Amino acid sequence: MEKIAFFGLGNMGGPMAANLAKAGYTVAAFDLNSDALVQAQQDGCIPCESAQQAIEGVDTVISMLPSGKAVKGLYLGGEGLLQQLPAETLVIDCSTISAEDACLLSEAAVACGLRAIDAPVSGGTAAAQAGTLCFMCGGDAAAFDAAQALLQVMGGKTFHAGAAGAGQVAKICNNLLLAIHMTGTAEALQLGVDKGLDAKILTEIMRESSGNNWSLANYNPYPGTMENVPSATGYSGGFSVALMLKDLGLAMDAASTSASSTPMGALAKNLYQLHGTSEQNQQLDFSSIQNMFRRPAGS
Ligand code: NAD
Repeated sequence: MEKIAFFGLGNMGGPMAANLAKAGYTVAAFDLNSDALVQAQQDGCIPCESAQQAIEGVDTVISMLPSGKAVKGLYLGGEGLLQQLPAETLVIDCSTISAEDACLLSEAAVACGLRAIDAPVSGGTAAAQAGTLCFMCGGDAAAFDAAQALLQVMGGKTFHAGAAGAGQVAKICNNLLLAIHMTGTAEALQLGVDKGLDAKILTEIMRESSGNNWSLANYNPYPGTMENVPSATGYSGGFSVALMLKDLGLAMDAASTSASSTPMGALAKNLYQLHGTSEQNQQLDFSSIQNMFRRPAGS
């Protein structure tokens, strides 16, 4: 069975690597955080002490890192992994980064005789655990086809959006919309509660009405409306405010290079920026934007 090197075992990468190991692949795992490596071992992966150790004898490299800086740090430059991988190795970067950085990585990989796709995901940590992520990919069609078997283990839906970087463009469009409907959902739920409605009943009503959307139905931001979502656990885990702010920054940068109008996204970014002023809020799940709308007790 194919051997995979997996980099970045956080909220998303941890369960993705675990699913590959469960499916029978040999997964050599590396993360800068030693706790993540302990968990990876419990999940059936082989914990590695260095990136170099992880890539020994691999056919495919998968990364799920927090930023473009981390991705470029891992792969590019004189000490970068691309230079050390055997020809034809398939590189699948699932991190959300700019389309420009994804193109840079793709070009460098091709120059080293490797195959590469950008394959950012949607679905959140629950989908990462369940193996039902949606992959939006950019790059050569043959490399996309070669990645299919692995992507199918980690998620049921895979799309080829176009050339290198196209997966990242699709991803930031999606997350721009996600930020808009999450903030809108939080605003509407709070209005209902302030007017005396029960958030759970209001949710049921809007789920059957024209206000229905993913944030309301699958990731409800109002505590007490739903189980197994971050709002049920004090907004811990999930997709951090810091990562949402990164994605909204990427979306705004992308919009400026195509002179696209994105006022709704700009407003959502502004709200997340205000919410994320405290370091503590930055680490909360992005549905904690609900707290921006909640009245202080007694007011
Ligand atoms: P996370 O912060 O939980 O995990 C990132 C992991 O990468 C950490 O464990 C960190 O130690 C590790 N890391 C950083 N640099 C490294 C390096 N050079 N080598 C090895 N490991 C390194 O983040 P996450 O929530 O898992 O998100 C990862 C990516 O997935 C981000 O790009 C994010 O935007 C994207 N994403 C997240 C979600 C979500 O719901 N959390 C959903 C879709 C996409």
